Amino acid sequence: MLFAILVKTPPVYLHFHMYIKKQRLLTPGPTPLLPQALHAMMGSDMHHRTEDFRKVYKSVLAGLKEVMQTQNDVIVLVASGSGALEASIQNCFSPGEEVLVCTAGKFGERWVALTKSFGLKPTVIEEPYGGAVSPAQVEAALQANPNLRGVFVQASETSTGAAHDIEGMSKVVRNSGALFVIDAITGIGTMPLKIDEWGLDIVVGGSQKAFMIPPGLAFLSVSEKAWARMDTATTPRFYFDLKRERKNAINGESAWTPAVSLLLALDEALKYIRNLGMDNLIKNAQLLAKATRAAAKALGLELFSGNNPGSSVTAICAPEGMDSSIIVKEFRNRFGSIIANGQGTMKGQIFRVAHLGYFDFPDLFAMVAELEIILAANGHPVEFGRGVAAVQNVYAEAALTKVKEPVAV
Ligand SMILES: *Cc1c(COP(=O)(O)O)cnc(C)c1O
Repeated sequence: MLFAILVKTPPVYLHFHMYIKKQRLLTPGPTPLLPQALHAMMGSDMHHRTEDFRKVYKSVLAGLKEVMQTQNDVIVLVASGSGALEASIQNCFSPGEEVLVCTAGKFGERWVALTKSFGLKPTVIEEPYGGAVSPAQVEAALQANPNLRGVFVQASETSTGAAHDIEGMSKVVRNSGALFVIDAITGIGTMPLKIDEWGLDIVVGGSQKAFMIPPGLAFLSVSEKAWARMDTATTPRFYFDLKRERKNAINGESAWTPAVSLLLALDEALKYIRNLGMDNLIKNAQLLAKATRAAAKALGLELFSGNNPGSSVTAICAPEGMDSSIIVKEFRNRFGSIIANGQGTMKGQIFRVAHLGYFDFPDLFAMVAELEIILAANGHPVEFGRGVAAVQNVYAEAALTKVKEPVAV
């Protein structure tokens, strides 16, 4: 009885359509668009074999190298991210070659499917969803089989919210004969990836993730070791011929008709990211991810990848007895907010909110406040403001540390 008085029973929340609902994209790709990048797309009436375009293309390629912090060539392809995953296999590997694939989620499974479809023979290290493959496992596999020609992994496994220890893995892959091929499509801009220092051979990114522009462009950095492989790799390739792209890029052109509108947007987004600083973009994602985890904890919710959480996306388990599809639907119907459900067998179990790219604290204040209402409306007792306060505290702590930075006397 006393308990009943202390715990405020939430009122019944009817399915109430508010008058105005702004759409908020809180998914790990596509992500919110940078307004100035969107505006830049209006300049798309540009021919791609002109000086105007060459200027843009050269600027984009230089900008990508700068934000990816590498001296390696970065090649741009007209495709969603998976196109560049495919290109890395087509250009650097031959049918029948043995490779190692690390998988701990739906995107890891994509590497398995991709390598198989090109006739490679993958040895698969599989960890349960929510987990991660360790550098020690990779080391053991490389030692057990000196014929492995490549190691494939996700920097950030977007389907579970887990991150892989790319630096740790690089130490064991680097001195092997294998190419280290990283799907960093949600890793870039959310975690440090020292391509040159760690010797990462191929690092793949996609436009609709931390780059704040629509889907349609993929890019990959390519090391000397990877370029050298292309001379002997026998997998057929035509549209995604990286050497052909590199040759054209020197003159500021792409091999085929490029996605001009997206390149104009990317040029603008890269200016924004360079201005902000790539390290700060990463810190932004990390801080928002930390605050999201704190909010989940304050609301009594479990994290799906509690042991190795990344900062691109946070996967949260729905409360006991609640289907996460309801939470996803409620976000959209009540507030116009788009969050992601679990994929595959995780559907209905978890919901995912993103931090990569153009996200800020007010986005998170709103998201967590919405979540509290949705939980309460669906019978999960919530004290309003608990989750939001956790986010505010992470903000305050970070802001305070800034002020406390040593001041020269
Ligand atoms: C988004 C994403 C991809 C790419 O998917 P596309 O639909 O081809 O852009 C690949 N890997 C990861 C980890 C991703 O998050």
